[in-house]
Amino acid sequence: AKNNTFEDEKNDEKLFGGLLVSSFDESSCVSRFRSYLYRKTSPYKPSEYLIFKLRNYENLHRNCGPYTKSYNESMKDGANFSKNGVDSKCKYLIWTAIEGLGNRMISLVSTFLYAIFTDRVLLVRFDNDMMDLFCEPFPDSSWLLPKNSTYWNDLRQFKTWESMFVNNNGNDPLTALYLDLMNNNVRVTNRFHCDQNQVLLQNIPVLILRSNEYFAPSLYLTYSFRQDFNRMFPDKDTTFHLLGRYLFHPSNVVWERIQNVYEAHLAKENERIGLQIRIYNTRQTPEETIVNETISCLQQNTLLPKLDMQNSMNPPLEKNTSKVVLVVSLYSKYGERLKSIYESNTSSSEEVIKVYQPSHEEHQNSGDNMHNIKAWSEIYLLGLCDALVTSPTSTFGYVAHSLGGMKPLVLQSISGRSIPNVPCQRLKYMEPCFHDPPNFDCMANTTVDFTSIFPNIRRCEDQRRGMKII
Ligand code: GDP
Repeated sequence: AKNNTFEDEKNDEKLFGGLLVSSFDESSCVSRFRSYLYRKTSPYKPSEYLIFKLRNYENLHRNCGPYTKSYNESMKDGANFSKNGVDSKCKYLIWTAIEGLGNRMISLVSTFLYAIFTDRVLLVRFDNDMMDLFCEPFPDSSWLLPKNSTYWNDLRQFKTWESMFVNNNGNDPLTALYLDLMNNNVRVTNRFHCDQNQVLLQNIPVLILRSNEYFAPSLYLTYSFRQDFNRMFPDKDTTFHLLGRYLFHPSNVVWERIQNVYEAHLAKENERIGLQIRIYNTRQTPEETIVNETISCLQQNTLLPKLDMQNSMNPPLEKNTSKVVLVVSLYSKYGERLKSIYESNTSSSEEVIKVYQPSHEEHQNSGDNMHNIKAWSEIYLLGLCDALVTSPTSTFGYVAHSLGGMKPLVLQSISGRSIPNVPCQRLKYMEPCFHDPPNFDCMANTTVDFTSIFPNIRRCEDQRRGMKII
């Protein structure tokens, strides 16, 4: 009986308290079944209602997904929708990729949540650059938009929602609409969260969505979704953590990378410190300032010991511990600098500090598959660390900490050479930040500060105009 309980607990951990189903073939997606061996058990459990909604969603996807009868009837060529009318039982939401992998993952989670709220089938338009990153998330089906679909065509041929809301010539029932929620396009004029607009969108069989944002908080602003949101996530600070862990399982290729790095460089150390250094403007931000700020952050938070630079042969270090700093950055110099500082200064000590940087791509190249494979494995590896320091406003960092279930120390934004007295601050919440949220009150037809209306909505710590749902 004891053994059984142990087995049950292990299974429960593997499947994340019912978040995941066991019906997948293990060899097609090793990480789905083995990640629990690397990740710490998450203290955040899915609610019964979230599990219920996910199982319902999986059924919908099974019945309406690619190559099903319903898909073939309605989606094969978009025009068929008009014949069958808008009451076809399957409606679709097509996600399209834009910007870097972090942006893509936060927008994909938001899109999935929107699909659940609106009973739509989520299909992803993954080009070659997105292949080989993730396993299929939904059982007995695929989330990939088939390459022969009309919805692979140039998006500019589809009606945009501006044209629908601005001059709504209601007599022509739309079969597809291009919903562009890029921050630069919507920003404060965003009316996506208005219930009356959701009513209009409801009747359109295919929505093609593009966003670079974590817009999940705006779904909470929509009254008609709020009750479901509250029931699915009694603790809304776990929204990305749980949906991300449901959707994003590293493909076998990515998993092999993760495992290799973990076994070779992280597994044997007593403590793993993840450090993400994201620089947006390499000219404006001197390398030495970033290195000093980072070291100051690590030391103030006692993640790394202070070094006695004058007397480097005798640094005041604890005994018999080994730490590794996993440096994740586009640039090799950060790993190299930290390595030269820490590895040379601890040479005579019994505390061993290692520094390891898995890659240095030097340039963002998000249209390249191998580049994205590296990015995804590093995002995942950061989430396996015991402590985490990330860069401000980086969606790459958001995904790493949220999937990891961590509240990282976030470096302060700096420009110039001076290092702030408080070089970094611990995040209070795990959720990614919605950088450019709407500020429009749909009922009152005025602008509004939602953080003053909803206690669950807060300003982001790293970007004042941004919002988080907690
Ligand atoms: P953000 O720009 O920091 O919000 O993050 P994104 O992930 O959206 O875009 C940055 C992209 O640049 C990533 O997806 C990677 O392709 C690349 N990149 C940035 N920093 C790193 C890094 O530390 N490691 C790797 N491998 N790639 C990175």
